[in-house]
Amino acid sequence: MALTDAFQRPLRDLRISVTDRCNFRCTYCMPREIFGPGYQFLDRAEILSYEEITRLARIFIAHGVEKIRLTGGEPLVRKDLDSLIAQLRATPGLRDLTLTTNGSLLRNQARKLKAAGLERITVSLDSLDDAVFQSMNDSGVPASVVLDGIEAAREAGLDPIKVNAVVKRGTNDHTIVDLARHFKGSGVIVRFIEFMDVGATNGWQLEHVVTGREIVERVNAELPIEPVGANYRGEVARRWRYLDGEGEIGIITSISEPFCGDCTRARLSPEGELYTCLFGVRGHDFRALLRSGATDGELSEFLASVWHVRDDRYSELRTAETALLPKVEMSHIGG
Ligand code: SAM
Ligand code: SF4
Ligand code: SF4
Repeated sequence: MALTDAFQRPLRDLRISVTDRCNFRCTYCMPREIFGPGYQFLDRAEILSYEEITRLARIFIAHGVEKIRLTGGEPLVRKDLDSLIAQLRATPGLRDLTLTTNGSLLRNQARKLKAAGLERITVSLDSLDDAVFQSMNDSGVPASVVLDGIEAAREAGLDPIKVNAVVKRGTNDHTIVDLARHFKGSGVIVRFIEFMDVGATNGWQLEHVVTGREIVERVNAELPIEPVGANYRGEVARRWRYLDGEGEIGIITSISEPFCGDCTRARLSPEGELYTCLFGVRGHDFRALLRSGATDGELSEFLASVWHVRDDRYSELRTAETALLPKVEMSHIGG
């Protein structure tokens, strides 16, 4: 049975964060001062097993979910992720299965992921300039490692490949055109993301945001582009194509042009809390139900009770005050 929320938005997408751990410390996501040696990550027993995730996914699919994105933390640091992909792939009704990764571990895993049933992939890469990239990932990994991961994904046949770049004023905005130029004509779609006030630790300020409009202007000045219609209702990225026919880029404008009206996404945290908004302060505890022997019917009822009353539209209501709310961290629910 398909579910709709308080604003008649259906449940269509599920983002599953498989771990809260990561081998990067991107300053806009897991600043090292907070996510340092003393930080208490979840224990193994606290996070959902692949069997628990797959059981929940089956129930979500029965209620309208067509697309699943695996994320984290860094999903590729969790052991044997390919076995989760194979289990999800075997679930009837799932139309689209994808993964967002920082790409640093992709060289060794791309083939396995594809063989397990992953079709496409998104790799995050904020700049090709090593000084800039390393200042953002704060873990010493150069851009060449991520580019090699992208190449491995291509060799494995993952298609399409998208690249996510968060744009932060004064940090990497002077390198966005280079990034666009590098992938132009390669088939890889670069998506520029406005720096968002997710979580409560990344020191977000409006001055750091480069708006989608400005990103388009900067790219267009050197590589002319024009807007293209969305592939489907609710598509998050606004599409722009190169006038010379050499592909397209996407712009994600959560700050300057919010898209809550079409938001059909639910997010499951590693320990089984369901968030109905990226900027949620509180999740809904599916793990307690799962581990207390709930039936599929009971899990379905819980999901319906959560989704029916969903009225989130954080980005449309954003103010300087809401940016300070104790929201769930991006590294916990995965963007
Ligand atoms: N570790 C994986 C990665 O980096 O691709 C998956 C998880 S990461 C949280 C998912 C996406 O969120 C990445 O593309 C990342 O750049 C983006 N992201 C993280 N913090 C963000 C922020 N404050 N504003 C905008 N995007 C952000
Ligand atoms: Fe890790 Fe991804 Fe967050 Fe960077 S954006 S710290 S790679 S989870
Ligand atoms: Fe969806 Fe919340 Fe983002 Fe709006 S702010 S688009 S409701 S996740």
